[in-house]
Amino acid sequence: MEGTVGSAALLPVTQTVEFDTALIRKLSQLGPRYTSYPTADRFNAEFGYRDYLQAVTGATARGNMHPLSLYIHIPFCESICYYCGCNKIVTKDRSKAANYLIYLKREIEMQGKLLAGANQVEQLHFGGGTPTYLSDAQMGELMQHLRRWFNFAPDAEGEYSIEVDPRTVTPERVHSLRRQGFNRISLGVQDFDAEVQKAVNRIQPESETVAIIDAARAAGFRSVSVDLIYGLPKQNLQTMEQTLEKVIAADPDRIAIYNYAHMPHLFKPQRRIAEADLPSAETKLDMLALCIKRLNDAGYIYIGMDHFAKPTDDLAIAQRQGRLHRNFQGYSTHVGADLVSCGVSAISAIGATYSQNVKTLDEYYEHIEQNELPIARGIKLNMDDLLRRIIIQMLMCNFELSIASIELAYPITFNSYFATELLKLRELEQSGLLTIDEEWITVTPKGRLLIRNICMVFDRYLASAQAAKADDGATQPLRYSKTI
Ligand code: SF4
Repeated sequence: MEGTVGSAALLPVTQTVEFDTALIRKLSQLGPRYTSYPTADRFNAEFGYRDYLQAVTGATARGNMHPLSLYIHIPFCESICYYCGCNKIVTKDRSKAANYLIYLKREIEMQGKLLAGANQVEQLHFGGGTPTYLSDAQMGELMQHLRRWFNFAPDAEGEYSIEVDPRTVTPERVHSLRRQGFNRISLGVQDFDAEVQKAVNRIQPESETVAIIDAARAAGFRSVSVDLIYGLPKQNLQTMEQTLEKVIAADPDRIAIYNYAHMPHLFKPQRRIAEADLPSAETKLDMLALCIKRLNDAGYIYIGMDHFAKPTDDLAIAQRQGRLHRNFQGYSTHVGADLVSCGVSAISAIGATYSQNVKTLDEYYEHIEQNELPIARGIKLNMDDLLRRIIIQMLMCNFELSIASIELAYPITFNSYFATELLKLRELEQSGLLTIDEEWITVTPKGRLLIRNICMVFDRYLASAQAAKADDGATQPLRYSKTI
């Protein structure tokens, strides 16, 4: 598919993004996804338990009912999906999960005591792995335990979400999850095509997935989200067209379309994918263009990165009102909440710090046995980090940046502090990705898909790493995925 899908002058109300093949081909490069700034690869082992305690003290000093986000990581899966790049443990031995829960509950208790009396959870997210690897009873007990140690905002105000693998739940279980307190659900679908499912070792009959979506709606979940992936083995425009048609017919509130990044040097399971089965870079772009067109036509709004939502969904409303936020779970509607994460490898963000838990079960259990939070590494943000974080955050969430608001909040003159960055932004302006005037940097509909490129201009660590690599004559870092 050559050229562009749609044109800025003719954009329908809901078409907030424009696909420009030539521009994407020219500018797509490896880069971070900015679920945090600085990115997690900048965390260091000098940051420890004491630094975390200090950050929590700062947060609790801000007074009662400070909004909190909670993230709970359940690392287990029953079988391996070959495309997977998550931190997970594939096992059919259920006793492993029972043992993990003993330690997870102790970590939750430690965190609850630390934040006692000064928190109100407005957001909860269960991710993995497969959170629904836990049995219904285990999940019920875990939710009760969370409520024992944290104050939760009422259901109507809080955003309580869970990632669900439709292969692991029944419609009855979905109703039970709603009763246990979840009000948002996100379903991993990836692709409905049988050949694609076989090639990635994830057989998931369409009828079962649709039954789970229907059950979520009947159970009263406020938002149903579906995750798809483009770029998987055996995928082509036809399979993508069919999958999109079925997904749109199922009518979810949000749809995420992730780019499959084939990085077998980093993720072992991907070595089981036959490279010959992967669609070409050209076909991948065509598939993305198709997704954008179909979703725009169906009335979904482009939120940013990989996310689309109905105009009535909270994400779209928050974006319109400038309240959208971005954290490790993607976009969220709760600005300013500290994030406390429990479980192996989970990342917390408290005040001006990030911290990450240890990555293996043995290390995790060992720390908890010693009554110590299992923090492995992290980072304290300095003023420059905070400034760049807010800029990246605003660009990613609102696609615009008020220069005056930055100068009001920070003791800088934007044009001189970011003189080098502005030169690079001018080049992107020439390419049509954004416009710059005295008061605003505004991302164009064409620039939205390449928002990571724009944010990378403000990433000081990336710039210094790239300069060092250029001195060495080395190529771009391989730990990041392509921006498109
Ligand atoms: S994609 Fe999800 S279900 Fe599949 S192995 Fe990875 S974490 Fe587990």
